[in-house]
Amino acid sequence: MQCEMCGKQVQRTHRVLIDGAVLNLCPSCSRFGKILDVKEETKSIKYVTNTPVTHHVNKTVRETRRHRVKKENVESLEIEPDYPSIIKEAREKLGWTHEELANKLQEKKNLIGKIERGELMPSIKLARKIEKLLNVKLLEQL
Ligand SMILES: [Zn+2]
Repeated sequence: MQCEMCGKQVQRTHRVLIDGAVLNLCPSCSRFGKILDVKEETKSIKYVTNTPVTHHVNKTVRETRRHRVKKENVESLEIEPDYPSIIKEAREKLGWTHEELANKLQEKKNLIGKIERGELMPSIKLARKIEKLLNVKLLEQL
């Protein structure tokens, strides 16, 4: 399938409402609009921003659109859909609690819980930190 915004060939596209028009977009471009497909992916995609804080999403979308070309490299990275179990298993293997992992990442304990329950997708920056700390792979190049 081909993304109608960037023209990239991707495995699947989402129907996304942008500026009143419905386009079929790749996961990277989907974040610029409102995803109309109500599937499990919607939940994950909603959090694919550079900040895990949802009330900043609108601001992030505006800024991202303005700096689209500049941010292209960051946008071609996707978080593994299995990130909750990857993080949980790696953490448990090390025998760390949510709190210990949170401290090492300098993040809040309940953020780790949310991530492991799949309620919150980590930012690319946080995912990189987790990858290094737990020696796992969370980011994939589209
Ligand atoms: Zn695209």
